[in-house]
Amino acid sequence: MAFTLTGIDACQITLPTPIPDPYWVAFSPSSAGLVTINLNASNLPADPAWLSLLAGNQLLTKQHDFSSPIATAYSGHQFGVWAGQLGDGRAILLGDIAGQELQLKGAGKTHYSRMGDGRAVLRSSIREFLCSEAMHGLGVPTTRALSVVGSRLSVLREEMETAAVCARLAPSFIRIGHFEHYNSLKNIARLKELADLLIADHYPHCQSAQEPYLELFKNISERNAKLVAQWQAVGFCHGVLNSDNISALGLTIDYGPFGFLDYFQIDHICNHSDHGGRYAYHRQPQIMHWNMACLASALLPLLELKHSENDAQTMLRNALEEFPLIYTDSWQKLFRAKLGLQTIVEGDTLLVERLLQAMHDSKVDFTSFFRGLSSISSQTPVKDISLRDNFVDREIIDEWFKDYLERIKTETMNDIERSSLMKQANPKFVLRNHLAQKAIEMAQQDDFSEIKRLMAILATPFDDQPQYEDYAKPPPPGENHIEVSCSS
Ligand code: AMP
Ligand code: MG
Repeated sequence: MAFTLTGIDACQITLPTPIPDPYWVAFSPSSAGLVTINLNASNLPADPAWLSLLAGNQLLTKQHDFSSPIATAYSGHQFGVWAGQLGDGRAILLGDIAGQELQLKGAGKTHYSRMGDGRAVLRSSIREFLCSEAMHGLGVPTTRALSVVGSRLSVLREEMETAAVCARLAPSFIRIGHFEHYNSLKNIARLKELADLLIADHYPHCQSAQEPYLELFKNISERNAKLVAQWQAVGFCHGVLNSDNISALGLTIDYGPFGFLDYFQIDHICNHSDHGGRYAYHRQPQIMHWNMACLASALLPLLELKHSENDAQTMLRNALEEFPLIYTDSWQKLFRAKLGLQTIVEGDTLLVERLLQAMHDSKVDFTSFFRGLSSISSQTPVKDISLRDNFVDREIIDEWFKDYLERIKTETMNDIERSSLMKQANPKFVLRNHLAQKAIEMAQQDDFSEIKRLMAILATPFDDQPQYEDYAKPPPPGENHIEVSCSS
């Protein structure tokens, strides 16, 4: 159900501002399936009213009436500092279809736009579209993207660009920042209303718990701990893990200056504006934990309705301490699967850590290395493993391969079984920055074919798709330093 809190401190009816001459840039038939949109032969909606709807130019189709769209208020911590009220500055929630909320990003100014223009540029909209669908293909919880509609409307960023509107879908777009908002206003009634709404719609089993709000916290925290472990396992860096960009459903949300690792650097910073590296790859788990602490603080007043301040704090603090345990357990499971290990043996974590250290030292491509590892035979002499050529220090990696081959021989699976399972844990294709960049540059020349191609490849990233070998390769020299920043 769509956000139902109303009033100046919650949400505002906000009509999208139309864009001139809307045109299709991208459309996801797979997302359309979620909301049962009828498609025509070219995989676009059969009803042409959808183009106008997803541009924000009209609010009706034959089946749907979205005439009360809203923008919601939220607050949050940006780069670790309390930033006060933020809110949907350029996102407008049209309403619900088939259990999904439909939101337009970049559809014009809202009550919460502050100094912004309410718009998004074509470049960032394509990145959000492709990455949402790529993450879904990888099995990582995410908001989905339905479409990108472009316009000739000019938008000023570092340079002049053109506007686009990205339509997103999620069962709910509620963020940690929504809770922080009411807590900061000391509006406990609203805070409770929001928590009750989230529980009723998305965490109904919490209702019967002895401590529903504590249970809600534990559930949100658990989902986000598992989410960040999945990011680490596919080499995804979010880029702006501010508390307003953290979903209350544990979905990856707000794709901005994200990046998938090409060569492995444990402290890789994907966001050019993140000078201190707060959101570097290796910090993501700790930062997500920190964001869960923000959520715990925001929910504290709800536990205090029944308990003393001290007891409420203790309950939440104890629940918060579960985060690193859940994260570590998920991370270990995922990385054991990446190495093709089904049993648990002491020393497995060290084996993973030694590999990551060697990959870091030699700047080894993250995705293609693990994919390559999925095909080695346990009988191959270490000196014949071609993957070792990626490493500068052969002695260290040879030692590692020796231990690894011994370890996989202790498993009951044969090479073929292990390889097939490992390929399900090690994608061949991820949305590397240079691939997204090529699709963007072509789209800026009105050629949208590369977006379609990428969408198709990334829908099944664990399949071999031998005809697309080039898309699995690391970026060519010179294309691995594409700079992405918060400006979008
Ligand atoms: P972000 O860094 O994209 O998560 O955005 C932080 C806050 O700024 C959110 O409240 C956004 O809605 C808002 N915002 C970002 N870009 C714009 C824009 N162009 N116009 C209005 N608000 C924006
Ligand atoms: Mg955001």
